[in-house]
Amino acid sequence: LDYSQVNLDLLISKLVASYQVILSKKSYTISYRCMNQNYPTVTCDSLKIRQVLISLINNAIEALDKEGKVSIILSLENEYAKIEVIDNGCGIPSAYEDKIFELFVTTKKNGTGIGLSHAHKIITQHRGSITFSTRKDAGTSFTILLPINSSV
Ligand code: ADP
Ligand code: MG
Repeated sequence: LDYSQVNLDLLISKLVASYQVILSKKSYTISYRCMNQNYPTVTCDSLKIRQVLISLINNAIEALDKEGKVSIILSLENEYAKIEVIDNGCGIPSAYEDKIFELFVTTKKNGTGIGLSHAHKIITQHRGSITFSTRKDAGTSFTILLPINSSV
């Protein structure tokens, strides 16, 4: 990993801004909120964390239907940065809930099943965690916890 001191608030703001342009053409919305002022810098590999967020946001968008919404929330939980990616899409089929982090597991016609497996690997390398909760036809939320000060 290529660690540096990363401004996650700025990283996510920029990423969401670029999605806003794309999504405004469909009738989907994406929103972002940082719950803390002067968010601390986080020791992490910014390119890899960006990749993880892109995977989660792309999955969220692919799960959407009419009036689709994706929201991203950045907050602090003890010594961890907490990033939630929440959608109001189709939900994860219950038969797949135990295996979505496995490589090549996909429910999509043209899916690769690489995104979540890769995301899990990157977050684990950072000594963080990635979990989800989901409900059929109501939506899914993924939660990443990333240590603020990784001792490299
Ligand atoms: P892919 O997107 O290529 O299918 P991923 O590893 O990114 O592969 O995701 C694996 C599977 O997990 C998806 O095929 C889908 O069934 C499920 N999944 C992931 N994120 C979501 C989500 N936000 N809503 C519903 N299902 C999801
Ligand atoms: Mg994917």
